[in-house]
Amino acid sequence: MAQLVWLRNDLRLLDNPALFQACLVSQSIRVIYCATPRQWQQHNESSAQLTLRQSLLTQLSQSFAALGIALDILQVDSFEGLTNLIQEYCVKHAIKKVWVNRQSWLNEKIRDEQVSQQLKINNIEFQYCADELLVNENIITKELKPYRVFTPWYRQWLIRLQASSIELLPAPIKTSNASVVLAQKINLPLATTYREDLWPGSLQHALEQLIDFCENQALDYDKQRDYPGIKGTSLISPYLAVGAISIRQCYVYLQQACLKQQASLFDTTWLKELAWREFYRYLMINKPELAKGIAFNASKEPKWIDNQEHFLAWQEGRTGFPIIDAAMRQLKRTGWMHNRLRMLTASFLCKLLLIDWRKGEQHFMQLLIDGDFSSNNGGWQWSSSTGCDATPWFRIFNPKLQSEKFDSKGAFIRKMLPELSELSDKDIHCPNSEQRRAADYSEPIIDYSQARKKALNWLK
Ligand code: FAD
Repeated sequence: MAQLVWLRNDLRLLDNPALFQACLVSQSIRVIYCATPRQWQQHNESSAQLTLRQSLLTQLSQSFAALGIALDILQVDSFEGLTNLIQEYCVKHAIKKVWVNRQSWLNEKIRDEQVSQQLKINNIEFQYCADELLVNENIITKELKPYRVFTPWYRQWLIRLQASSIELLPAPIKTSNASVVLAQKINLPLATTYREDLWPGSLQHALEQLIDFCENQALDYDKQRDYPGIKGTSLISPYLAVGAISIRQCYVYLQQACLKQQASLFDTTWLKELAWREFYRYLMINKPELAKGIAFNASKEPKWIDNQEHFLAWQEGRTGFPIIDAAMRQLKRTGWMHNRLRMLTASFLCKLLLIDWRKGEQHFMQLLIDGDFSSNNGGWQWSSSTGCDATPWFRIFNPKLQSEKFDSKGAFIRKMLPELSELSDKDIHCPNSEQRRAADYSEPIIDYSQARKKALNWLK
């Protein structure tokens, strides 16, 4: 019986539950990937991430061909068009069952329900597999409600994780000698920010990067992760976002590293960061309106200020605050930004410029190669104090102090703002007017102390 695997955010051969299960039950497998350009635009998918997807799909189509499995790229404008497209495909290829890895975001969920209902009418089964999360159980409080605070949820999450045994699934093996036509390339917008040197479209590379990080850096992560001038984090977020690696692979390789180095897996900070990713997904599952731009604590939202000039300066990295501008230029140039800087730039936008977090969320999504709907939404709501278990509203990062603390010698600023590279380690965090003029670098667009005072009154 012919089976179809529909790839989405799971662009890999290894540890792919839908692919693995389909190959277990049949030797007649086809694989599709559906390009939906208008939907991508609506979801603000960045061209960098789309280009990474394209690269991985090209590689996958060759790998599948070697296994005797056809990978077809289908194209339709948006999710609505998928129901008919997939049904026609199934009829044409006599498909009896479609396998997918479940996605929990609202539009994706509705899309899958619609496709599955249509297929059912045609006696074609639609089978979900669990892939997105390390803990699939929906953890709830004693009052049978979803958790609203990370730490108690995390405790429960760890208990479930400790009780489970996670094993990675192998890639499919060659079972057919059918000759396969290679998939056509999808036509994607030209990526201006895709840095192939940093994130090559290679499954092998993604896995090696993960293993290397787990073996050599993960256990020092808590000491290194806050400094944007060094490579102290895994940099695997772009691969996780498109599913070139699975969340279970992250867990298992971390577990192996801990075993080798006799460290306690459940105390590692890196595992806690993976849990934040999972927590933001958990929130979206339990509060689907988050996907519609509604704040978790909607009643706590202040009135935002619509200052286009300030917003543009922030976007373009010319606020006159070196650490903020360096961060925004990193985003523009590489499609990625260090976590500490995401927190800083988001706080700057929402708490000092008092601009709506949704504008920042959208801008990030349009540029990030690791754009992930729930993590981005969660990060923005956390930073703007409108989210679940968010930073308190009166916590406003001071860019200069943060810069002195986390980029003390200005290594990161120098890299991103070469015009300031001649300044001393002390001056680089806040040059004086003369130094700014000499370097052709902007004056600060706001006075920090005044903006802070105004914000505290405003947010109160
Ligand atoms: P590591 O530090 O090595 O962490 C490993 C993995 O854990 C990450 O790849 C990511 O999947 C997860 N993770 C780590 N920190 C967080 C966190 N705070 N929240 C959720 N997951 C986390 N992450 C995204 O993957 N996509 C986004 O679109 C995104 N937008 C963000 C927006 C804002 C305003 C903020 C404050 C954070 C955002 N993050 C986002 C979280 C975090 O900044 C990135 O996951 C991290 O910088 C990726 O780098 P890394 O792979 O080296 O992470």
